[in-house]
Amino acid sequence: MLRRHPWLFSGAVAQATGDGSDGHAEVLDAAGRPLARGAYSPDSQIVARLWCFDGRAPGAELFRERFAAARRLRAQVLSPETTGFRAVNSEGDLCPGVLLDVYGDAAVLELTTEGTQVWRAELEIAARAVFEPTRLVVRETGTTRDQGRPAAREAGEDLAPFLENGLRFVADLGSGQKTGFFLDQRENRSRLRALARGKSVLNLFSYSGAFSVAALAGGAERAVDVDSSEAALRLARENRRANGLPAAEADFLQADVFDDLRRRVEAGERWDVVVCDPPAFAKKRADVERAARGYKDVNRLAMSLVAPGGWLLTCSCSGLVDADLFQKIVFSASVDARAPFALTGRQGAGADHPVALDCPEGEYLKGLWLSRLQ
Ligand code: SAH
Repeated sequence: MLRRHPWLFSGAVAQATGDGSDGHAEVLDAAGRPLARGAYSPDSQIVARLWCFDGRAPGAELFRERFAAARRLRAQVLSPETTGFRAVNSEGDLCPGVLLDVYGDAAVLELTTEGTQVWRAELEIAARAVFEPTRLVVRETGTTRDQGRPAAREAGEDLAPFLENGLRFVADLGSGQKTGFFLDQRENRSRLRALARGKSVLNLFSYSGAFSVAALAGGAERAVDVDSSEAALRLARENRRANGLPAAEADFLQADVFDDLRRRVEAGERWDVVVCDPPAFAKKRADVERAARGYKDVNRLAMSLVAPGGWLLTCSCSGLVDADLFQKIVFSASVDARAPFALTGRQGAGADHPVALDCPEGEYLKGLWLSRLQ
């Protein structure tokens, strides 16, 4: 507690009193002295997410202050050419269990724990007051009540337009994928755009094709999106058109990436740039070994497709696979692929996804920029 880690695990609690129905948890030490206050999630392993260690209590005033501080940080690190960004990043903004993504005039407030869901009304008021969105969508993902999909909307029905480094995108507020867009990859897209001129780009697990849009805007000769979701590929076509970029039907492939990669390797294809940004393969600790095999397979296949002198951007957003382990997996994939690569950079999420030093678990996205040596 003295180290201010914001997660209180149920195993660390000797005794609990009260029913916690107001969402508030007050943590006391063995002598009954108050240590911290936070949001109570009785059904979670992390039974409380701690917001205050200084005697203050979460509530309307504190929410407003913390959101305002988060807003000031964004104002310093984002350009006016970027109107889609993460405005509040849970522990990284001292708001454990609360995410707020802004997409132009719209905003999505995601409450990721039971406790913060109880505070919904006050959090909504604070979000409206500080960020002044024209439209605020709230998602509750902390319980089974909402599995991440707002009930009233279907994929592709509720689109919020915004800019990322001057490029036009839409967030699909009804898709159930994140809050509708992968804002955490902005920095990697911008790196790709800077090196894409004249290159062929294979964009694996493309979702709405944002990497391809960035590459084509940077002068890529061609970019192909591969995703298993038809709805995602529909958005990908839209995103290219919105930026006046070519959208040939052959550049959108609905397929399982693993099958598609095997076909391409067999056909002896070569690409200048391959982007590999799969969904989190490990969602719980028991998944880590299987996830490691998945990352190794997909990277081995992807590496075989990269032309000598070309690039692989390989990513993992599984928090449970840490940066060291991910790099080891990728190394062993390169041995199996018999393809020598050099690491030229590591790039995770941007400054709108701050990570509290007290809570390093908040850093989940790893991106390795690998250059094929021969
Ligand atoms: N790179 C994207 C985000 C990827 S999210 C961006 O920057 O926006 C992961 C995507 O992988 C989702 O769109 C999901 O539909 C897709 N997906 C998951 N498993 C897949 C598989 N086995 N084959 C193809 N696509 C898959």
